Amino acid sequence: MNVKHYKKRLLDMEKTLSSHTRREIEDSRGHFIDSAHDVGDSSVADVAADDDFTQAELDLTILQQVREALSRIDAGTFGKCLVDGGPIEAKRLEAVPWAPYCLKHQGLIEAAAHPETRTR
Ligand SMILES: [Zn+2]
Repeated sequence: MNVKHYKKRLLDMEKTLSSHTRREIEDSRGHFIDSAHDVGDSSVADVAADDDFTQAELDLTILQQVREALSRIDAGTFGKCLVDGGPIEAKRLEAVPWAPYCLKHQGLIEAAAHPETRTR
C-alpha cells in the first residue's frame, strides 16, 4: 500500500478542514450575536446558525477522524480495520482515506448506532 499517498491526502484534508471549522465556528458566533440584537429576525438567524454549526460539527468529526488516521500512519496500522485488523478495501480508502473500519464492520457499527434504520 502506498501510505505516503494517503498521508499527503490526509494532511491536505487536515489543513482544509481546520481552516473551515475555524471560519464556520466564527460565522455561527456572528449569527448568534446578530440574532440577540434583532429579535424579529431571531428565528431566521437561529436556523442559519444551526446550519453552520451542523456543518462545523460535521467538519470537526471528520477532522478528528483524519487526525486519528494520521496517527495510525505513524503507528503503522493505517489501512487495517480497527475491529479485526483486516485490510480496509483500497477503493474505500481512496474514497474515504480516514476510514477506520472495513466495509463489513462499518456497516455493522452503523446498524448498531441506528437500530431504527435496520428494518428498512
Ligand atoms: Zn473489519
